[in-house]
Amino acid sequence: MIYLDNAASTRLDDEVLTAMLPYLKENFGNAQSQHAAGRACANAISAARDKIAALAGCRADEVYFVSGGTEAGNTALKGVCATHKKGHLVLSSIEHASVYESASDMKKLGFDVTFVEPEKDGAVLAENIANAMRADTIFCAVMAANNETGVIQPVEEIGKICRERGVFFYTDCVQTAAYLPMPVRHADGMGFSAHKFYGPKGTGALILKKGSKVFRLISGGMQEMGFRGGTVNTAAIVGMAAAYEKTCLERDKTNAYIKGLRDAFLKRVLSEVEGTRLNGDLNKMLPSLANISFDGCDGENILFLLDLKGICVSTGAACSAGAVSPSDTLISMGCDLKSAKSSIRFSFGKHNTEAEVEEVVGALKFAVQKIRNN
Ligand code: PLP
Repeated sequence: MIYLDNAASTRLDDEVLTAMLPYLKENFGNAQSQHAAGRACANAISAARDKIAALAGCRADEVYFVSGGTEAGNTALKGVCATHKKGHLVLSSIEHASVYESASDMKKLGFDVTFVEPEKDGAVLAENIANAMRADTIFCAVMAANNETGVIQPVEEIGKICRERGVFFYTDCVQTAAYLPMPVRHADGMGFSAHKFYGPKGTGALILKKGSKVFRLISGGMQEMGFRGGTVNTAAIVGMAAAYEKTCLERDKTNAYIKGLRDAFLKRVLSEVEGTRLNGDLNKMLPSLANISFDGCDGENILFLLDLKGICVSTGAACSAGAVSPSDTLISMGCDLKSAKSSIRFSFGKHNTEAEVEEVVGALKFAVQKIRNN
């Protein structure tokens, strides 16, 4: 199998699994328990929190363990709404569904929401975010990089605008955590998922800067400093800390390697397959992603033909109630319907090789030709 869908999820690192295993076997206690078995887990959780905080550049008591980016986004957005009870939210129109849908839910409860579209290059202008703000704006969300195009957003500038106006700023770092430092100086809230950087699925972190007024989403026991009830998943949290440490330590080397593969692939596809276009500005992109439109093709058909050859990629399209709709992100960047429907997201990771790039380019040429000849 050739896996080019690393933006969806990544393979667990062997070292990460090794770090997790003791907490799935002998150290199986509940971190809340008052005995040795519980203490072993509580100590491991505390060490994981310290490690993640040090690597991210924030305080340990600003790191809350959650189930992933979805819960982080829901908690930040709904938690800010719950403290204010009414007000206006500003979001980019290209937010992940976890943030976008949270805002839609709040709209049903009476909050006002303004969605700000990106430019053609995939980036949201800070100036447009500023213009969308009102006197009653309480919350702003612009993701650190988009999951479909990989375009990095101007988080520093937007953070400054929010700070000046006293607006809580959440930035979804799910796609950037592997590649970029956490923007702790620019945002009030940040979320990420371990499975995007070779850690386990179903675990992530929400970083909330001290002093932020965010009401908790999950009530229960006193876990996570009383902010998020529920027995913590010690093995997954230990795994996430190990994965994040490895990611941060090897970041420069890994980024250069992945970028080399992505750039070689892109150069070949754009020059050797006619009627192809990269969606988004390459100069603003994560090193791992290439979202390409193929004229005269349906993305679903390309995906299907590549899948038959054991190659895993993704379309930007969302499937709801059996109907495939084109990517909202590409449409809001000004991409026409046909072009949006013809797009494929290739996302590279550190386990990919040059030989795989070669094989995928060949398979892609064959697939596109076959579809166009039909
Ligand atoms: N935000 C972004 C940008 C994502 O790409 C994803 C998942 O792909 C999420 C949030 C949700 O993460 P999870 O499914 O791990 O909760």
